[in-house]
Amino acid sequence: MSKPRNIVILGATGSIGVNALDVVARHPGRFEVVALTAHRQIDALLQQCLKFHPRFAVAGSAAGAEQLQAGLRAAGGTTEVLCGEPALEQVAALPPVDTVIAAIVGIAGLRATFAAVQAGKRVLLANKEALVTAGPVFMGAVRGRGATLIPIDSEHNAVFQALPRDFSGDLAAVGVRRIVLTASGGPFRDTPLERLPQVTPAEACAHPNWVMGRKISVDSATMMNKGLEVIEASWLFNAADGQIKVVIHPESVIHSLVEYIDGSLLAQLGNPDMRTPIAFALGYPERIEAGVDFLDLARVSRLNFSEPDYARFPCLWLAREALRAGGSAPAVLNAANETAVAAFLGSRLRFDRIPALIEHALGEVPVVPLRVLEDVFNADRRARVCAEAWLARHAAGENQHSLRVSA
Ligand code: NAD
Ligand code: MG
Repeated sequence: MSKPRNIVILGATGSIGVNALDVVARHPGRFEVVALTAHRQIDALLQQCLKFHPRFAVAGSAAGAEQLQAGLRAAGGTTEVLCGEPALEQVAALPPVDTVIAAIVGIAGLRATFAAVQAGKRVLLANKEALVTAGPVFMGAVRGRGATLIPIDSEHNAVFQALPRDFSGDLAAVGVRRIVLTASGGPFRDTPLERLPQVTPAEACAHPNWVMGRKISVDSATMMNKGLEVIEASWLFNAADGQIKVVIHPESVIHSLVEYIDGSLLAQLGNPDMRTPIAFALGYPERIEAGVDFLDLARVSRLNFSEPDYARFPCLWLAREALRAGGSAPAVLNAANETAVAAFLGSRLRFDRIPALIEHALGEVPVVPLRVLEDVFNADRRARVCAEAWLARHAAGENQHSLRVSA
């Protein structure tokens, strides 16, 4: 076997990180884990360090790093412990590292993912928010620094697989008419609309087909996830809004498709298990085993498709509007959405009010061009201030309401 690939996993303790390590463990000698990072799940990170023996581990805080250090010392682990965002950027850009799995959730992963891109790494991208918020700056750095971007997000991985190997960013040149992203429609695809105000975080996080982190689970329930994926696809494949179609496909068996001008539709199918796109990205251009169950088509028996309902899922529409507006609009969309999802999970915002908060921020925060990474963070900050102010007013409004009721 050739030299092992040196990999770093940013967000190793999350749903994607754990799946990635599961694939890595199936291929002894093929991958060398150089660094693992986690925000708060120190016990999980410690166990991973003891199993994969990375050179570095990064914890989110000094207290977390101390706890990890103590655990390693007690167990005889030799991993060097670092902490904080600068350490994330540092491990993402280490010279011996060739592959970085970007699996932190939210814009919190942008700086480290960007550092990997700037260091010209092979970046296996799960952290869609990094690309969505920083699109032009991110893709400029990919081109300028000779980085390679391989999508892990299942839809984009499917599209990547259905495009010609030599695709270099010109869809027309390879005869592509449209990209078709499939969406399950999440847990509330058929829920009566009048039930949505009572939806709880536990219900929203119970996805019918995929087991994922809480933030992306809520995004799937509002379909903001698909909206973010439309923007992600626009940057990855250089596609305009009109070249990206979304179709509801409740079974999540077809992970996405590419439509060619001759009428061919090329699809990638499989069981909904993230280890397939992760193994594809880790092994590329070779195929490696992922440990997944193979798809039994006869058992699947039939597949269903329908148009998305933009009235039920306004977030999908808002994301398309942000894509069309360009510049900082997707960063504002993302920041307002991150604020809204956190507020919903913290029982400060009703599920059906998530789109209203995002629409408000998009209307209030001016769109500016993105030239450097700090432009992205400035837009992000402005949107969060605006969203928090809306939340404070919204909460005040509800209190007034209850006062009136009790008066
Ligand atoms: P998760 O919540 O399960 O894990 C997130 C990881 O990021 C954890 O390791 C956590 O410690 C780390 N993290 C969280 N906040 C951090 C911060 N502020 N600083 C540094 N590290 C931090 O999330 P997930 O479901 O694994 O998703 C990760 C990313 O992959 C998201 O962007 C998501 O949209 C994308 N994605 C996930 C799936 C999936 O099946 N889970 C599918 C497609 C795309
Ligand atoms: Mg996806």
